[in-house]
Amino acid sequence: MAMEDRRVRSARSGQIPASLTLVNVAVSPEEDLHVPATPRPLDLVPHRRYNPLLRQWILVSPQRTQRPWQGETTKQPAAPAVAYDPACYLCPTNARSGGAHNPAYTRVFAFNNDFPALLPDIQPSDESPNPSPLLIAEPERGLCRVLCFHPNHSLTLARMAVPDITRVVDAWADETSSLGDLPWINHIQIFENRGAMMGASNPHPHCQIWATEHIPDEALRELAAQQAYHDEHHKCLLCDYVATELANPEARIVVENDLFVAIVPYWATWPFETLVLPRRHLGSFTDLTRPERTALASILKAVTTRYDNLFEVSFPYTMGFHQRPTHGQAHDSMHFHAHFYPPLLRSAEIRKFMVGFEMLGMPQRDLTPETAAARLRALPDKHYAD
Ligand SMILES: [Zn+2]
Ligand SMILES: [Zn+2]
Ligand SMILES: [Zn+2]
Repeated sequence: MAMEDRRVRSARSGQIPASLTLVNVAVSPEEDLHVPATPRPLDLVPHRRYNPLLRQWILVSPQRTQRPWQGETTKQPAAPAVAYDPACYLCPTNARSGGAHNPAYTRVFAFNNDFPALLPDIQPSDESPNPSPLLIAEPERGLCRVLCFHPNHSLTLARMAVPDITRVVDAWADETSSLGDLPWINHIQIFENRGAMMGASNPHPHCQIWATEHIPDEALRELAAQQAYHDEHHKCLLCDYVATELANPEARIVVENDLFVAIVPYWATWPFETLVLPRRHLGSFTDLTRPERTALASILKAVTTRYDNLFEVSFPYTMGFHQRPTHGQAHDSMHFHAHFYPPLLRSAEIRKFMVGFEMLGMPQRDLTPETAAARLRALPDKHYAD
């Protein structure tokens, strides 16, 4: 118990134990149960790591990757070859469901989702709302928007030019600002589902923007964790984390520029998960300076290019930003960031599943975050299809 407490404390304070001593634990049948084992580095033994943003543990089982790497690389076409698809409801001038036509847009284009998951004008029914304390529901108002990154149907963030991605960053800031100005909107969640494997219904480069009355649970957990860390240490959790990673840049940093850094986090769940952070403490798209907008565009291109180069496939992922709620409270402890959650593990076809122990117990991974970061870091900046 004391050991666990110490490890939680050290994880929270950024002091990462370099190794664990396994005492009286046999790691192979040949080992004598009664001989104390020598300390083994974390990249050899099962261990769990603490995710300070979600305040949960992840099980890491690196001994399972000691067998030779057999990651075949399956070559697939990078992206749909056509710049314009007459059947795409996101391409310029095409009809959308419900009769609207897209304008002949030449840069970014945002519109209200024709099949929104949230509605702005719902009212609670007059019926007794909660017949039991165990049957709790309440209305949730919101707006769902779609943002096309570019008129060219064949592009992805990895294949777009940095000035074009910067226009997307500008649009993210504009949407955050205008939606956040609505008095009943308190949180803006921007996310991109890339690839059919992640449920993207259309390959046209686009993202979704869901503005909600309540702060969604995942964002709320991270806000609470950052506030608790700030209350305890009088410092920002993610500023401290960036400093910890920059002090050891060969460990988990994938790519960095003057203003942003992309890291496979120490506590990553997905095999090639990354966390993209501004070096400066800021809370929202609306805080980004002009150079920071360009630097964010640049690092998003660098990360997605490496992803594509890993298995030479247009890499699927869910990507999204966590930013300060818009309800006017300060949230000074909130450090703006993006998460990339890609499902692929070994090739274009072999993905990680969150099943079994992960549904019933806790997330688990074999590949260490350090190995994942080293593989991504070693890949070229130039896209394999260029
Ligand atoms: Zn299209
Ligand atoms: Zn910070
Ligand atoms: Zn987050």
